[in-house]
Amino acid sequence: MAAKSRKAGIFFGEYDGKRGVFALTPEAAIEALKKSFRFGDPAECEYALGNTWAQTEDEVGWRIREEVLDVYDIVVELSLTGGRGHVLWTCPFCKRSLSDDCYEGASFPMLFRCGCGGKEKYLIGNLA
Ligand SMILES: [Zn+2]
Repeated sequence: MAAKSRKAGIFFGEYDGKRGVFALTPEAAIEALKKSFRFGDPAECEYALGNTWAQTEDEVGWRIREEVLDVYDIVVELSLTGGRGHVLWTCPFCKRSLSDDCYEGASFPMLFRCGCGGKEKYLIGNLA
């Protein structure tokens, strides 16, 4: 049974062509970026790409870029203890059971990614 795809806009935080974060809205991408280890001073952290925003098209810096991609809807499960825990999901392609950190009050749908089969797949998870 093949998962059925649809098109959706995914927002990437990009620095000099390198993708740091992905999200369902530009606001969520900015929030994720601010918390990401990719956003920082490369002189202080070897994983950081930079901490400036690009003001123009050819300036080097972070920018949010939308790309319309194939996405797949999945049903996810929450496992919380004391307000924190995990969101559990299964990739419809490789059937692996995966989990991401989550907290009480997290908003759904949530965006997930699996890189199985040599191609990144974007999955949109909703609670049952
Ligand atoms: Zn997979």
